[in-house]
Amino acid sequence: AKYKEGMEKTRNSFSGKINDLIARYRKVDEDFFEELEEVLISADVGVMTVMDLVEGLKMEVKRQNIKDTKEVKDVISEKLVEIYYGDDDEQIEELRIEEDQLSVILVVGVNGVGKTTSIGKLAHKLKQDGKNVVLAAGDTFRAGAIEQLDVWGERANVDVIKQSAGSDPAAVIFDGINAAKSRNADVLICDTAGRLQNKVNLMNELSKVKRVIEREVPGAPHEVLLVLDGTTGQNAMSQAKTFSDATDVTGIVLTKLDGTAKGGIVLAIRNELNIPVKYVGLGEKVEDLQEFNAHAFVYGLFA
Ligand code: GDP
Repeated sequence: AKYKEGMEKTRNSFSGKINDLIARYRKVDEDFFEELEEVLISADVGVMTVMDLVEGLKMEVKRQNIKDTKEVKDVISEKLVEIYYGDDDEQIEELRIEEDQLSVILVVGVNGVGKTTSIGKLAHKLKQDGKNVVLAAGDTFRAGAIEQLDVWGERANVDVIKQSAGSDPAAVIFDGINAAKSRNADVLICDTAGRLQNKVNLMNELSKVKRVIEREVPGAPHEVLLVLDGTTGQNAMSQAKTFSDATDVTGIVLTKLDGTAKGGIVLAIRNELNIPVKYVGLGEKVEDLQEFNAHAFVYGLFA
């Protein structure tokens, strides 16, 4: 139900176009596939992914001897789900959280993508699952970042560990870890700076923060979540490449999917970068974060 509301723009646009295509073509032929490719690309599915997808679709249509475009709809959904998971099992790729020790989640991403908001939402979600959560205000660079995280900390009802603006992020994270340990917290979520103007500095800062986490907590960071703005298409893809070159990104939080008709980016990210989308942002409120499930997502598109 959440997908249905949050993904309304993508759903309306996508299912509208597919239904229109089916009504206009009736017969499955080369022109039909070509227009289908255009529809998928316009939903930001990504050219490479669309090629893979349509190739698989053509094979399946041939195998099942499908002639009528009406029958092709189900095969499209199947293939969309398949392209997302590849050879993996169809499962929600859950957050990696330890049961009986502190888990650390490092959150990275460029300014403005919705990093702070997503941290707040995730803290709320984990809190609701009965976890004791602490936040560390590791973005000491952007003006207002610490205060903004504080506001989200209040909303989610979790503690925020912070220092003054301009202080060493690694020191803040170190403090955060100690505070989390002494409070017997289950999860520490670490914010980081997101200025991309000076890529080398940013990446050095992230490595330093990561080293502190690795040193202080065995097995940590348990997740490195990259937050991407789902409305930015190829820009999001290139950010994903930059960050995954610099650090081991273990999952994506794709935000603002409620504000775009181009939700197909989810499929492109997974298929082209092989990083699972763990959460999607479907609004600005504290509860508007949804665990991503490709099956529900794809079938939601056609619902
Ligand atoms: P940061 O600079 O990456 O920390 O970005 P913020 O968390 O401050 O978010 C930037 C803007 O995007 C804010 O106005 C948020 O309300 C908005 N935002 C974040 N996530 C979502 C989402 O899933 N949906 C919508 N519609 N807006 C979002």
